[in-house]
Amino acid sequence: MMRFIFLGPPGAGKGTQAQTLAEHWNIPHISTGDILRQALREKTPLGVQAQGYMDKGELVPDGLVQDMVKERLNQRDTQSGWILDGFPRTVTQATFLSVLLQELNQSQHQVVNLDVPDDVVVARLLERGRNDDTEEVIRRRLEVYRSDTAPLIDYYRQQQILVVVNGNQSQEEVTNELKAVVNS
Ligand code: ADP
Repeated sequence: MMRFIFLGPPGAGKGTQAQTLAEHWNIPHISTGDILRQALREKTPLGVQAQGYMDKGELVPDGLVQDMVKERLNQRDTQSGWILDGFPRTVTQATFLSVLLQELNQSQHQVVNLDVPDDVVVARLLERGRNDDTEEVIRRRLEVYRSDTAPLIDYYRQQQILVVVNGNQSQEEVTNELKAVVNS
């Protein structure tokens, strides 16, 4: 079973780790942030609708992101597994995903929480310097993370599918820890 949801605050290193491990396991890396940024570059209707939210550090409305994920998980390459990075980000999205995965017969999955202290996260985001990485937008993204996304940690802990990994170590160390925990 190679199906993983990566949780963690912005700047936790989810994207980097998800990409490395997806290559290693030869499964698709599905990043809602990447899909949205591509839609934005291509100025598709989805991109146009999402831009204002992303620029402010707000979440794109659940319905838009849910449609996007449904379409992506319905593609054939997801049969071998996947890593979901950046989704779900709200309890509503998590409930939607659980129904979707049942429909797709892909219910069995694990959730990995990349745990990183706040001050480290802010420092990393400021260093990264993406368009939406200004100090104000970072602050807002962290607030949104705490209020909307962090509750998913308990949500998945209760379902007993949560694994916590220390994200505050070198990239290689995090990768190795991830490889070790998901095989056990
Ligand atoms: P980060 O690297 O900060 O974790 P992402 O690349 O995952 O950020 O996402 C960038 C932005 O895209 C978010 O701030 C948000 O506006 C939007 N976004 C991505 N995934 C979702 C989602 N599941 N629900 C709502 N908005 C999302």
